[in-house]
Amino acid sequence: MNLRDTYRHKGLRRQLVETIRKKGIQDEAVLLAIESLPRHFFLEKAFEEWAYEDKAFPIGNEQTISQPYTVAYQTSLLEIQKRDKVLEIGTGSAYQASILAVLGARVYTLERHEELYLKAKKLLRFLKIDSVRCFHRDGYKGLPEHAPFQKILVTAAAAEIPQTLLQQLDINGKLVIPVGKNTQKMLRITRTGEKKFEREEFDNFRFVPFLKGLN
Ligand code: SAH
Repeated sequence: MNLRDTYRHKGLRRQLVETIRKKGIQDEAVLLAIESLPRHFFLEKAFEEWAYEDKAFPIGNEQTISQPYTVAYQTSLLEIQKRDKVLEIGTGSAYQASILAVLGARVYTLERHEELYLKAKKLLRFLKIDSVRCFHRDGYKGLPEHAPFQKILVTAAAAEIPQTLLQQLDINGKLVIPVGKNTQKMLRITRTGEKKFEREEFDNFRFVPFLKGLN
């Protein structure tokens, strides 16, 4: 692991934040979190050069670390408040989970690939990010023993909205999820009552698919 954060890295991060800002992200707390968290800690040393491009990047097991713009976009939609209990589906590199932690959330993150789960857990322990808890679970089932959540974030493409996740939302809680086959529409569902949900639609994105079961 490469855990040095140099002036050069910090400079590249500032440029990345400006790029994301120009693309339309206005949430200053989110931009500050991206500026403060070294994204190169979440990639292999050999790919360090790529860490501050606004691009998704392979992290093994056919998975990717999300594009910084996408992380910023989804995080802004969540409107994180300090101490929010947040469920993330798709730990991947744990970069998104760590951004949520920087914003003061208590994060529970689920990953179906055992290898990625183990790697994420080790990295977070190393970085002393202790407000993120990792689970090797199928995200379709959510995490009933820790529900309800004030926020739920899905970071893989879903064909439809999983009902189990809606049931694990707190009243006034928000679910942010990309839904669709080839391209996905970003949706935000707010639970306004025990059986009442409101739906908002945002831009289109491309995510790796949300898969069933564990491996
Ligand atoms: N949030 C990640 C990027 C996620 S890519 C980051 O910041 O790096 C999507 C992730 O979702 C992949 O790691 C994939 O293995 C995981 N995934 C796909 N289907 C899943 C499921 N049913 N349950 C849990 N994780 C799943």
